[in-house]
Parts: sequence; C-alpha cells; structure tokens
Amino acid sequence: MFCGGTGLTKQHLWPDWLNDYVPRQDNHGNLKSESYFGITPDSATSYTSEPAKKVIQGSLGSRKLRQVCEGCNGGWMSKIEEGSKNTILSLMNQDEATLTRSQQFELVSWITLMTMVNEFTDLPMRAIPYRERQYLLIHRLPPSDWNIWIGRHQQGQSEDWTQMNGHHGYLVASNTGEERGLSEETTNALRKDRLALPKNVQSSTFCIKGLVLVVLSSVDPAIKGELAKAVYPDMVKIWPADPGDIIWSQIRAVPDEEMQLRVDYIETILKNYVDRMNAQTTNAQA
Ligand SMILES: [Zn+2]
Repeated sequence: MFCGGTGLTKQHLWPDWLNDYVPRQDNHGNLKSESYFGITPDSATSYTSEPAKKVIQGSLGSRKLRQVCEGCNGGWMSKIEEGSKNTILSLMNQDEATLTRSQQFELVSWITLMTMVNEFTDLPMRAIPYRERQYLLIHRLPPSDWNIWIGRHQQGQSEDWTQMNGHHGYLVASNTGEERGLSEETTNALRKDRLALPKNVQSSTFCIKGLVLVVLSSVDPAIKGELAKAVYPDMVKIWPADPGDIIWSQIRAVPDEEMQLRVDYIETILKNYVDRMNAQTTNAQA
C-alpha cells in the first residue's frame, strides 16, 4: 500500500508494543459511516448512512490486517512507531508532559501512518490516494494540506472511548466534478450509484486512553480550504501549525459524553460548505 511491494505481512493496526500498556478489554469501539453531499440542482440531496457504531471483539492493540510488505513493516514503519513511542505513552497516560516541536513531528508521522493503515480496515470509504501514501514513505510526514489535532480525553466508564478508532468517508460532489478531483466518468456515474463512488474527504478519530487524535484530509482543492479553517475546541492543531511547546496539563480533558461531538464536527463543516455552494448555484440561475 506504500511502495507497491509484494509479500504482504500481517501488520498490527496499532503498534505491537501498545499491547503491554493498554488494558486488555474484550472489545473496542469502532465508528464508521459514509455520506454523500451533492452540489447542483439535480443532485442537491444529501445522504448520510446510519452511523455504524460497532463494537469489535478484542483490544484495539490486537487488531491486524495484511496490507503492507515486510520491507516497509520492519523498516521505516517500525522506525516511526519506535520514534514516537515514549511520547504516545506519556500522553495516553496523562503524565505531566511538555511536548516539544520535535516530538510533535515524530507524533505527526505516526498519526499519519496510523490514519493511512486504518483506512484499509474500511475499504469502500477510502479517500487517501496512493500518491499521499508515497509522500509519507519518502518524507515521513503528511502532505502539507492534511490537518491534525491532538487533545486529551478524560477517562470515563465507557470502554468504547478508551480504545476507539473511527473512520468516516465522504463524497462531496458536483456536476463540475473534474474541478473537485473527480474524473468525468466518476461524475457521470454519480447519479447512478452515489454511495459506490470513491470518497473525496476522510475524517479519522482515534482515542487511546487519555489521548485523542483527529485527522482530516481531502483530495478536493475547494474542500481542502474548508478543512484548513476548522477549529476544534479543546484541541491543539499540530499540522500544519506551530503551536510551540505544548504543556499537556493545560489542555482541557474532554469527558466521554462530549467525544461524539468531535467526531461529528466534520459533518457540520461539509454541510455548511455544501449549503453555501447550493445557494450560489440557485442564485446564479435565478
Ligand atoms: Zn512496502
């Protein structure tokens, strides 16, 4: 999935070492849903599938998938996982921590890797193109138009939020789909089977004990601009941004009951954008 290499090995979704530090639970939370937002008069309907909040058997650390080659897995990927290990451990355990800029870069590499690998647990909703995975392979950093936030989670009672991986794919499309990163063929197919089409926006939310991560990206130039303006309350943007040193104890820890709001915020961003575009289309025709 990164280098085009063959000889795929089983890869842990979360780093192997995490199993020694997360409580063994019977289950972990897993959120999935897909949405279609149409722009233009004939496709101006929006659709959201029932958000599937599934509980998956086993601890998050035990989940495996067979998508990466041995060279990648044992090479640069394990370097990223090892490089960020101490930082992740101290953040998820809510230790008194000061996160330096260089630690933030290590963390950003790992978050990007996780996001890319995690998409392969949710194949129909993938929205990250191969060229972006290659970018990580070469630069060990996300593309500059990705958006990454970190925050604190107040550990509560819910096992779901103690170990959670959420992935949502969205298709925001219009009849001028080519400008939005969609081929003509894709745009034409749009009216026939909207939900079967490739998604162009993805949102990933990870929660591991006291650490929450949010990643938003899109292949659509206009939507990239919308995502760049997003602001998550109580979270710190670490890519692309320079927040300076982050004092972990100064960030508000968000309780379980507010966690879903963080997951859903992307939908508000996209709906506002689509409403605005639809209003412009209608005005232009009037
Ligand atoms: Zn490889």
